[in-house]
Amino acid sequence: MDRSNGDQYDIISWFEEVAEKADLVQTQTLVQILQLNYGVEYLNKWFGDLDIQDKEAIALESLFTSLVPLASHADLEPYIQRIADGDPSPLLTKQPITTLSLSSGTTEGRQKFVPFTSHSAKTTLQIFKLASAYRSRIYPIREGGRILELIYSSKQFKTKGGLRAGTATTHYYASEEFKIKQEQTKSFTCSPEEVISSGDYKQSTYCHLLLGLYFCDEIEFITSTFAYSIVQAFRSFEELWKEICHDIREGSLSSRITLTKVRRAVLSIISPNPCLASRIQSTCEELKEKEWFCVIPKLWPNAKYVYSIMTGSMQPYLKKLRHYAGELPLVSADYGSTESWIGANVDPSSPPEKVTFAVMPNFSYFEFIPLHRQNQQDANSNTDDFIEDDPVPLSQVKVGQEYEIVVTTYTGLYRYRLGDVVEVAGFYKKIPKLNFICRRKLILTVNIDKNTEKDLQLVVERGSQILSKTTKAELVDFTSHADVSKQPGHYIIYWEIDGEVEERVLRECCREMDASFVDHGYVVSRRTNSIGPLELCIVEKGTFKKILEHFIGNGAALSQFKTPRCTSNQVMLKILDVCTIKRFLSTAYGS
Ligand code: AMP
Repeated sequence: MDRSNGDQYDIISWFEEVAEKADLVQTQTLVQILQLNYGVEYLNKWFGDLDIQDKEAIALESLFTSLVPLASHADLEPYIQRIADGDPSPLLTKQPITTLSLSSGTTEGRQKFVPFTSHSAKTTLQIFKLASAYRSRIYPIREGGRILELIYSSKQFKTKGGLRAGTATTHYYASEEFKIKQEQTKSFTCSPEEVISSGDYKQSTYCHLLLGLYFCDEIEFITSTFAYSIVQAFRSFEELWKEICHDIREGSLSSRITLTKVRRAVLSIISPNPCLASRIQSTCEELKEKEWFCVIPKLWPNAKYVYSIMTGSMQPYLKKLRHYAGELPLVSADYGSTESWIGANVDPSSPPEKVTFAVMPNFSYFEFIPLHRQNQQDANSNTDDFIEDDPVPLSQVKVGQEYEIVVTTYTGLYRYRLGDVVEVAGFYKKIPKLNFICRRKLILTVNIDKNTEKDLQLVVERGSQILSKTTKAELVDFTSHADVSKQPGHYIIYWEIDGEVEERVLRECCREMDASFVDHGYVVSRRTNSIGPLELCIVEKGTFKKILEHFIGNGAALSQFKTPRCTSNQVMLKILDVCTIKRFLSTAYGS
């Protein structure tokens, strides 16, 4: 890993070398993980008295995959809990774990603790530098420029055993690596640490935007972890711009910023700039008339691109992001999770819908469980969403095949099922390039029907096409629920819409969505009415902001927030129910 610390282009040569011998690097990575952690309680359970120290690398690899079983978070949770409670014995890693990360929990419904070590921050630095070098090849940026980075730390806290806990992004923003990345990529975030870690996302957003505009001519690109935060920030900007212009004109700070540390930090940076304020104000007046189309290039004339995760559950925000970005390239960011980084986007010019991720073979040991869609005749069994084959190593994956990813990490996760479904789209030398498909978990199921997040996304896309064809209204956000409280059970899709829409159009959207679920189990059940008509609930403006606030109130960080695309969370359902202003039942299938 050390060889990649030099110039931006050296890291590309380093990655190319690694890519040539990815299979070897994977075996070495596994051997290193096992040697570092030989003798820990979890591995002893599977290896017993076996001495793995003198084993050949290849033999060790097959011993590992035959003796250590695949695991889920639930299998490792008792160990992680003991670590959180302060058990000092080597349970998962030899090196004591002093920090725990909280996964966002917005996809699984509940936040999970995952070990975080210095290796985690180092890999973040390395993948960011690599991605930055690839981006700079295509979209060169000025050295020493600034980044408008819409990032947010959540609160860090101590576990019962005194370990530091917080989201992975929070640990990263607080780490040395975050500073090193700015120095080595020669681009500097324009917000000070006090703004990033304020703990109040609304105050942070205001200050990010204020500082981003104060330094607007120096901004080289605009970024956030997930695209949701950029869209969320620009929606707020539509309301905040006058206040921001006032602050730039006067060198003052709005009274909505109440946190002393944040006030002090921001006020020490800005001073009155009436000329800039007038320029921004007149641009905003024009932009307002055009519904903020192209706001990003108009206000940040030197920005080269917008950079963020735009794949998976972020895809529904692309339309709005394109509206704000106009012709400016949208570059989709890398693929990772709290457990491990997985792959880098090494083709930054590919559109977000087509982006693939080249697996980082020195970060973790990866295995891939081949997944096969069930045949129509098997689809009546309510067992599982896919049929699985035995896991294969990175070197044996096939183009066009779908897999669930399994990781063995330096942080003490062994053969851990990540729960993401990917497809191998091709190879970069010997490294597979992955398409992110969806979370594996089925989200909508009443009886024999099986629909994933991706299925729902496609259906909502079909429904919202009717909106955009016939009205100026837009879909702000959506979620769903499989309601089985009454017989027959049925799906509910909740939409928040910006703009006026006739009921006739919404009824048509509802019908279209119901008819667009192609899953055989769903279609058959709808025909026989063992699943009732799909219900479309229109919620009032601001409902999804309330949902965001509910999750943030429970410790989620805006930087990692993903709107749950399906929920059975009682609080969230209550919010949705209270905020529903119109309901429609589908007339597809003649009911
Ligand atoms: P978290 O546990 O909060 O770190 O979220 C990690 C999850 O976010 C992953 O397991 C994926 O499901 C999703 N994710 C992360 N990066 C991407 C990406 N580039 N494209 C699509 N989904 C992603």
